[in-house]
Amino acid sequence: MELNVTRRKFLKISGAVAATLAVVELGFDDKTARAKAKELKISALKPTPTICPYCSVGCGILVYSNGKDVVYTEGDPDHPINEGSLCSKGTTVRQVYTTEKRITKPLYRAPGSGEWEEVDWDFALDKVAKNIKDTRDRTFVQKENGHTVNKTEAIAYMGGAALDNEETYLLSKLFRAGLGLTYIEHQARI
Ligand code: SF4
Repeated sequence: MELNVTRRKFLKISGAVAATLAVVELGFDDKTARAKAKELKISALKPTPTICPYCSVGCGILVYSNGKDVVYTEGDPDHPINEGSLCSKGTTVRQVYTTEKRITKPLYRAPGSGEWEEVDWDFALDKVAKNIKDTRDRTFVQKENGHTVNKTEAIAYMGGAALDNEETYLLSKLFRAGLGLTYIEHQARI
């Protein structure tokens, strides 16, 4: 994103920031006003607990939604890992939902094409399933050095921080025991 700030605008902004800081330094306590605004914004909404998707710390986040929009997010005070605090990245997690860059439909780039095209979910799921089956059928190894291995090294699986214990257990079973993958990796290390 390009910032287009003229010298005049820059001086205006600097002045406003300095004035705000001066008010804070003189003792103006805006905590009550902030608390009131927050209370009004989310008072009727029920928070849904979730896990921050960004890194392996796995902080708990409360998401306040009005059914159409994510109105507010904050650290979950009852979560044992972060106890309500969030880093700067986690604090902005609402933008995962609100950003105009969010991709809401599957995209497909055909072999040899330089363009991505929107496809429906049925197409995307069928394509993924077909590619997994074709690759596994083509590369599956039953025996190696006289030992039964039943594996494929041609497919890898990478999990993310938003997955919980139960999900990773099931995914591990699916990919290791079900498909024979050996390259199973997960971002979280806690
Ligand atoms: S809030 Fe920050 S530290 Fe916590 S999981 Fe998200 S990115 Fe990691």
